[in-house]
Amino acid sequence: MLDLIAEIRHLKGQNNATILAHYYQDGEIQELADFTGDSLKLARAATKVTTSTIVFCGVHFMAETAKILNPDKRVLLPDLQAGCSLAESCPADKLARYQEMLRINGRRFQTVAYINSTAAVKALSDWVVTSGNAESILRRVPADHEILFVPDRHLGQYLQEVTGRKMILWDGSCIVHEIFSVGDLLALKRQLPKAITLAHPECPANIREHSDFVGGTEAMLKHLATYREPTDFLVATEVNMMWQMQSQFPQHRYHPVPGITCACNKCPHMARNTLEKLRDCLAHGAPEIVWQPSFHRAREVLERSLLS
Ligand code: SF4
Repeated sequence: MLDLIAEIRHLKGQNNATILAHYYQDGEIQELADFTGDSLKLARAATKVTTSTIVFCGVHFMAETAKILNPDKRVLLPDLQAGCSLAESCPADKLARYQEMLRINGRRFQTVAYINSTAAVKALSDWVVTSGNAESILRRVPADHEILFVPDRHLGQYLQEVTGRKMILWDGSCIVHEIFSVGDLLALKRQLPKAITLAHPECPANIREHSDFVGGTEAMLKHLATYREPTDFLVATEVNMMWQMQSQFPQHRYHPVPGITCACNKCPHMARNTLEKLRDCLAHGAPEIVWQPSFHRAREVLERSLLS
């Protein structure tokens, strides 16, 4: 293991590479990274990278976003099969047909895509949002337009609640956040009655209703910073997030909210990236994210939404 880490560090220097890792990656990968963060923080970090190569330890749409914002850099993803069930729940051709149907029916609307979507879907959208900036972006959509929100129906429902703005919701969801068990959450709350429950807005309404704080991963960390005394937290998001919480705020105790079908809530797509694959992709310069025609339009939408 130590040899492997030393090898990765050596190859990183040799290849003039920067490693970006999402909070949902295993702790050992986050520890090696130059930048860790949620999708928004990493997209912004990608624009500041000065090396010629970015290795993105996350899932495909995130590496795609890094390439779109850095066309001249080589962007590597340790496992090209690291997809995302949420992004896959909104195929671009299906979205294009649905938008056409709305236009034929005389509906005036703008499409708002959660960043967990493919570049082809971003290219069909007016705005791209993350859980961190969604509320402020939604306020920029003209009041005389409807909002078509894709692909996450749970995040869409949550945003409807906090902004009061009615939206047409695409019927997509994340397999990791959808399986939290409300029964197990209530049992945990009975065991730890003073615990504070944190939930990601990708969670279904019945989990959010029983939570003390709802926010994306970056917002969760900011919220934790407001607690000085050791506190128990019940965490309803991908389990690796607790590694980042533990390293930034070690005085607290963190308890994962269990899922209905498994107790780990680990994203199987993120888990495809391993230290061995990180080493191999640095050694071989592959797999690489290659520029696609849809990236031009997706870039305009991303820059307007996330960087300005
Ligand atoms: S946790 Fe869910 S939304 Fe995030 S990458 Fe995994 S499947 Fe996609």
